[in-house]
Amino acid sequence: MKRPSEQSLQNMVAEYQAVTSPNVMHQLEQLAAPLKGARVLHINSTKEGGGVAEILHKFIPLKQALGIEADWEIITGNQEFYQCTKGFHNALQGMRQTISDKLLQNYEQTNRENAEKLHEKLKEADFVFIHDPQPAPLLNYISERKGKWIWRCHIDVSRPYRQVWKYLREWVTPYDASIFSLPEFAQTLPHPQYIVAPSIDPLSDKNCPLPEREIKNVFSQFNLDPDLPLITQVSRYDRFKDPLGVIEAYKLASKLTPLQLVLAGGGASDDPEGEAILNEVKQASNGAPNIHVLLLPADANRTINALQRASDIILQKSIKEGFGLTVSEGMWKGKPVIGGDTGGIRLQVINHYTGFLVRTPEGAALRTRYLLHRRDKLKDMGMRAQRFVRENFLITRHLREYLTLMVGLTSGDVERISVGSA
Ligand code: UDP
Repeated sequence: MKRPSEQSLQNMVAEYQAVTSPNVMHQLEQLAAPLKGARVLHINSTKEGGGVAEILHKFIPLKQALGIEADWEIITGNQEFYQCTKGFHNALQGMRQTISDKLLQNYEQTNRENAEKLHEKLKEADFVFIHDPQPAPLLNYISERKGKWIWRCHIDVSRPYRQVWKYLREWVTPYDASIFSLPEFAQTLPHPQYIVAPSIDPLSDKNCPLPEREIKNVFSQFNLDPDLPLITQVSRYDRFKDPLGVIEAYKLASKLTPLQLVLAGGGASDDPEGEAILNEVKQASNGAPNIHVLLLPADANRTINALQRASDIILQKSIKEGFGLTVSEGMWKGKPVIGGDTGGIRLQVINHYTGFLVRTPEGAALRTRYLLHRRDKLKDMGMRAQRFVRENFLITRHLREYLTLMVGLTSGDVERISVGSA
């Protein structure tokens, strides 16, 4: 990944300070000082689609701005590889899954091949962050590694399907540390476990302020009615995001209160189930007035930003959720979020304060109608939601925790890492 120029780094620092707090970058610079010149490699399995890619796109330049040699690589595999890792994903979130030996062998072979391709970088890095189960076995195929390896799990593993976790645990055990998003996700592992919540980038196209006309433009772009209240869920088409439950909630609420629903989603290249779920969603919404099912390209960040800003309420009715960046994205735009009472959504939605936690379509419908009828409450909740994100879920806080973790993991051998610095 290309390093930003000195001028653009300076601008970046100023912009973050303006949105967060005046000393935030100074604090990050201090924390990053012992890590100057350290080689940090992040590995996941997709450049676009899903929360991990969303975070890494901005994490890498920010680390570089702090003098860290940060880099990001993806591993690639065939269709069977993604079928297998989607099975892992579903199993870690509690679904019973049988994964054949053939798929497991292909998973291991794919990791072996990727390890060969990335061998030099992986071997030389001072820190390797491996995101989720897809690249977990890489460590096993690297001889004489130099750095610390950290497994970063973004999934809700509070109640994994045991058989699959037992298999994956073998790959994760030799790591130096793991990171989970919530304390409830921590596992029995023989190394330190850190709890770090993800974050959103307030300066990205997804979250930056937009001119009013760009926000209004979504009404004509997607054939929406500017005079009807709008509720929106932005998500990959995935069963755990419960898009069918959202449609049911919309149908219940709209019997009594006129409104429109947008379901906005796109594919992730490492998610092979999206198309089937999208078809189910289209079927369920067929004939229902004012349901808009959108399939957006991967770079539609400003469009999603505008849709979230144009909405009255943001929904994220997941039944399992590692964190749910879309929740913070909605809250950052001053919207109350009606979210599934699960995993990382509970961390962001404080029930009755920054939004509502719900367990059923009926609950989501009831809360939707309540907020649309009580505009004063809707506005207050939205303002509190934005403040809560500013204080807790921006990328600067996230980076601070990563830097602390890296310094902590190397206390004693920081000198060695500093060798490459100017
Ligand atoms: N997203 C997107 N386009 C889509 C659907 C989702 O850009 O069509 C983004 C969304 O705005 C968020 C991320 O992808 O930034 C999804 O992260 P989240 O943690 O909510 O869910 P995940 O997909 O990682 O389970």
